[in-house]
Amino acid sequence: MSKRIAVVGTGYVGLVSGACFAYLGHKVIGLDIDPEKIERLKKGEVPIYEPGLDKILRQAIDNKNIEFTTDYRYAVKNSDFIFIAVGTPSREDGSADLSYVESAYKSIVEQMEEGDFKIIVNKSTVPVGTGRWAKEFISSLLREKGFTNPEEMFEVVSNPEFLREGKAVEDFMNPDRVVVGADNRDYAGMVASLYEKLQPAMIITDLPTAEMIKYASNSFLATKISFINEIANICEKAGADVSVVARGMGLDHRISPHFLNAGCGFGGSCFPKDVKALVYTAKQYKVEPELLEATLDVNERQKIKPVEKLEKYMNLEGKTVSIWGLAFKPDTDDMREAPSISVVRKLLEKGATVKAYDPVAMENAKRVFKEEMERYPGKLIFCSDKYEALEGSDALILVTEWSEFKDVDFDRFRNKVIIDGRNLWEPSIVRQYAKAYEGIGKVK
Ligand code: NAD
Repeated sequence: MSKRIAVVGTGYVGLVSGACFAYLGHKVIGLDIDPEKIERLKKGEVPIYEPGLDKILRQAIDNKNIEFTTDYRYAVKNSDFIFIAVGTPSREDGSADLSYVESAYKSIVEQMEEGDFKIIVNKSTVPVGTGRWAKEFISSLLREKGFTNPEEMFEVVSNPEFLREGKAVEDFMNPDRVVVGADNRDYAGMVASLYEKLQPAMIITDLPTAEMIKYASNSFLATKISFINEIANICEKAGADVSVVARGMGLDHRISPHFLNAGCGFGGSCFPKDVKALVYTAKQYKVEPELLEATLDVNERQKIKPVEKLEKYMNLEGKTVSIWGLAFKPDTDDMREAPSISVVRKLLEKGATVKAYDPVAMENAKRVFKEEMERYPGKLIFCSDKYEALEGSDALILVTEWSEFKDVDFDRFRNKVIIDGRNLWEPSIVRQYAKAYEGIGKVK
């Protein structure tokens, strides 16, 4: 049955969830405080790069199942479920910054009236304990407004999101599982029923357990990446090939082949910040998170591995290095915590000129590297295609394994040192053309 849903925050998660709920037949209002974003969405423009999103959004708009606003009053009045999908970035100390979430709660409460009952659903990734804290916080705001029985006006439910950028629509529509946590299982069931058409595996649990499932899942995947990167570093010294090792491991169904690709580290808007936030939470509870800290340390070192490898072949001062791929992974324009940031900064610090190209993240990259462009004038050049980025360079570092880099005219690699930060190419082939080739975790 169609339900009335408001989604607060129309970023990667909010927009995809809103569009998918609308596609499933619910009546959705997407709300954001960014008027420019909302104007574009009203015109049917998609402000982020996410395969398939434009199509389902267009269909939802045509079916009048989704609308966009900056007006909290309108969104709160016309919804029963209010999903919070605002950002929860890292603070300096690693903890999750909940100020956007807090501000969303305040704006919702401001619009609540006598007789209202709202199910407030945390889809943002929030630390264990946030849901219970939110209940007290929202109650106190309602009490300040003069309502005497605030707990009868709302319920807080946790419904963490597991979608991957680049495959967000596909993931939302085919979830491995949907996790819903609440103190009152009836309300958890009501949120679960929003996904009914998808027939997903469902975990219904309490608030802190649902919140922890999200952090534990992301931390595990990040740890798997750091694990294989550590194995890769040992492989290089011991003469083993990490790609074959990973395949040999991944065929064991207890291990699975996913997230076992050695490379130049993980980035993105989730893994780094979520592992840091779990480290912070653990310390709050006086638990020493040694494994999680090692996951982060290994990753920091791994991000600059390609530059260290390149330095074996040349002094970088005065050299020109091409970078292929800037986004934190293929099929997204997201640059948050991308390993390319560490690679480019390190190269500039060492006196190299960088010629960079990414199929879709160029605009975001220009914003990220604004300071570097001022600090190193003329030394960071953004190129409009992959071959332009190769012209006149001494070396190439592949940072993001976009599929357009897979099929390449290897002739263009002549006289260059190639550092394949994602083990994308077959070493024996590249070596026929390039001056030198190095992947990650392999000597041959
Ligand atoms: P995002 O930065 O892309 O989008 C957040 C949006 O919220 C922005 O459009 C911003 O303008 C808006 N916003 C901020 N404060 C607001 C307010 N008070 N009221 C209304 N709108 C407001 O963030 P995202 O990547 O979509 O992530 C959102 C949450 O989902 C985070 O907690 C993140 O950890 C989690 N998450 C993200 C992913 C992912 O792949 N990006 C996956 C799973 C979970």
